[in-house]
Amino acid sequence: ENYTKEAILQMAEEEDVEFIRLQFTDMFGCLKNIAIPYSKLEKAMDNKCVIDVSSIEGFVRDEEYDMYLYPDLSTFSILPWRPQQGKVARFVCDIYNEDGTPYIESPRYILKKALEKAKAKGYTLMVNPECEFFLFHTDDNGMPTTTTHEKAGYMDLSPIDLGENARRDMVLTLEEMGYDIESSHHEIAPGQHEIDFEYSEAMETADKVMTFKTAVRTIAKRHGLHATFMPKPRAGVNGSGMHVNMMLMKDGKNVFTDKNDELGLSKEAYQFMAGIFAHIKGMTAICNPLVNSYKRLAPGFEAPSDITWSSRQRTALIRVPQNVEGGTRLELRSPDASSNPYLVLALCLEAGLDGIEKQMELSPELKRSIRKLNKKEKEEMGINSLPENLNDALNEFHADELVKEVLGKDFTKYYLKAKKEEWLEYMEQVSEWELEQYLYRV
Ligand code: GLN
Ligand code: MG
Ligand code: MG
Ligand code: MG
Repeated sequence: ENYTKEAILQMAEEEDVEFIRLQFTDMFGCLKNIAIPYSKLEKAMDNKCVIDVSSIEGFVRDEEYDMYLYPDLSTFSILPWRPQQGKVARFVCDIYNEDGTPYIESPRYILKKALEKAKAKGYTLMVNPECEFFLFHTDDNGMPTTTTHEKAGYMDLSPIDLGENARRDMVLTLEEMGYDIESSHHEIAPGQHEIDFEYSEAMETADKVMTFKTAVRTIAKRHGLHATFMPKPRAGVNGSGMHVNMMLMKDGKNVFTDKNDELGLSKEAYQFMAGIFAHIKGMTAICNPLVNSYKRLAPGFEAPSDITWSSRQRTALIRVPQNVEGGTRLELRSPDASSNPYLVLALCLEAGLDGIEKQMELSPELKRSIRKLNKKEKEEMGINSLPENLNDALNEFHADELVKEVLGKDFTKYYLKAKKEEWLEYMEQVSEWELEQYLYRV
């Protein structure tokens, strides 16, 4: 909602708000915040709150200086999981330099820039995310484990579903914060859940994903469980994704819809998909940012590994779900919830619009399962695959000019450097699996 400063001051006073958190998201998708007391609320709304960013990753500069947090007044919201007397509210903030220019490496700014560019052509992006997560038990020291005692599966009901009370509490809490919850259900793996909220404009969705993760973790803890969005916490069962459902709007109409098409898709919808396909390899280091992300994408667990689209095959990278009257949407299935939603959405939008702009040609629909085909057979069919690990993804990232342009030169440089280090560190590890396989045998 579009609140005025006066309205917020009044709400804060009436609701007995004691602290306000000024939130922002770093390069790697971590939510950060500083808390200010109520007495500083006016100062904060006048964009006068300074943060020292020298120890925050991704803010590395040769020359350090202070940055300013500009609260987005429309994001004012009370955090229901904090005390009900002396409440805590929050703002999502934009980051500005001392001289009043936006800090261009801020993920929220990167999305804002992409949205404004699209807006100039008349487009807005509506997004509905599907966040999956596991609820695990904690050990005697309160540390998270990867165990769950429950055995429930896809859409099972209580009493087998032990997470159900926790999930119910999460939904109620999110609703209290103004989320329009579409549905929630038990996912395929034991201990795995999903909560979906309705479409909103891309920026609102990205803000909501960040708060969603905090809310889910906090409520899980209250139930003695640990919630994790780690893409593949357990081998042998499904990992957790964050499918991104998109609708592109122009003049209040869904651009993706065309009643005369067999699948209900417009020319622009096909081109948008083609644009994403043209850039998905380069986008993958953002959509799937962790070493662990690639273990989820390995074939066999309903996550995509090939660059295909389909109206039926669930392993396709983009699925075109059944067309509910005018609600044509494209579902990108590769992203996981460890990604930075601002960056993912900025890239999806820019890549898709690149496809429309250049009138890109889409590969034919995948009509059969290709799970049993090898790489060569897939290549013969003209099917490309997603990068198989973080290192390959970083090389593709480096090679994609559009991706680099959307994120900006400095952002790209810092991101690559940090992620390459992560990869190298991983490569130095010796895993349990290796010891089990080789220690005795060799
Ligand atoms: N968990 C799967 C994934 O990783 C999705 C399964 C589903 O939603 N049906 O994407
Ligand atoms: Mg779903
Ligand atoms: Mg799901
Ligand atoms: Mg889905």
